[in-house]
Amino acid sequence: METKKLISIVVPVYNEQDNIPVLYEVASRELITLAQEYEYEFIFIDDGSTDRSWDVLQKIAACDDRVSAFSFSRNFGHQAALMAGYSHAKGDAIVSIDADMQHPPELILEMVRKWENGADVVYARKINRKDNIAKKSSAFLFYKLLDLISDVKIPRNVSDFRLIDKKVLAVVLDCKDKSPYLRGLVAWSGFRQEFIDCHYFKRFSGQTGYTWKKMFKLAWDGITGFSMFPLRLAAYIGMMIIFAGMVAGFYMLYHTFTGGVHFMLVTWLAEALVLMLGMQFLMVWLLGEYVGRIHRQEKGRPLYVVAKKADKSSIVKTAHIKIKKTSVKAHKSKKSTT
Ligand code: UDP
Ligand code: MG
Repeated sequence: METKKLISIVVPVYNEQDNIPVLYEVASRELITLAQEYEYEFIFIDDGSTDRSWDVLQKIAACDDRVSAFSFSRNFGHQAALMAGYSHAKGDAIVSIDADMQHPPELILEMVRKWENGADVVYARKINRKDNIAKKSSAFLFYKLLDLISDVKIPRNVSDFRLIDKKVLAVVLDCKDKSPYLRGLVAWSGFRQEFIDCHYFKRFSGQTGYTWKKMFKLAWDGITGFSMFPLRLAAYIGMMIIFAGMVAGFYMLYHTFTGGVHFMLVTWLAEALVLMLGMQFLMVWLLGEYVGRIHRQEKGRPLYVVAKKADKSSIVKTAHIKIKKTSVKAHKSKKSTT
């Protein structure tokens, strides 16, 4: 008998005592419709909740052997909780979803379908934002900035509600990032990435666990993890200062030699200081380039990710591609005549 594929549902939890049972019920009801083809498991990570979340999780885990729950010793943050969930997931596909019902669990089925059709990553892209103006505008600015300066294309308007194939999971876990920005890491890993547009809802109960401080940290992890731009800023500033200093210098030299203008010694000194300041910025940039390389090394991301391999044993789905022997012959004869 063929073994069923396993879907892992990873749920980070921070003070969600009233939301956990709802998410568990609704998601289970959806997943049970797939029972003919798939097994499923829930992995809840309690990120140091101070309410009764852990009691609720213990109860659910005691009643359902498809549920495992882990509790952090304190609050380590959403991304750390997701990473912990990922590291325990045994599924062929792994779905990460928030505990607060903002992400519609019904979408999991659609994600699985897309995955079965060949997608390796399926993002739920939000087409509405139910957030307040401050959160909306800060998110807009952050994504715009990240888009501009990031070394990889990180999709906009996606949260951590997504499905990833186990091979993408292996790549993500292989990265030794100590301040992971998972949206970036998943985008960076490559493979076939697809989207489902959907509405996000208001949280079912409780309050957001994302304080401004946590949001700023996440944004900073995103920027420093995926862009060398902040380090290169010193180079741009230095070049601008040197350029301005040179223009002023040429102006002063021109008027000294052609118009006989006498600039005061302090003006020449100021001019020299400006040029030296520019040089200093360039030196800081040079230092930054080396620090950047150490930073890249420390993150321990693989140099490349292999997606496919072809050899004699691989199944040939490309029978329609015929390598013309005649063209190989023509190439050989061409070579021999030259
Ligand atoms: N969360 C977490 N640790 C935190 C903050 C949040 O594990 O320090 C969880 C939270 O329980 C939820 C998900 O991460 O399942 C998203 O957090 P939240 O809903 O508070 O963020 P928002 O949707 O307001 O951005
Ligand atoms: Mg939320």
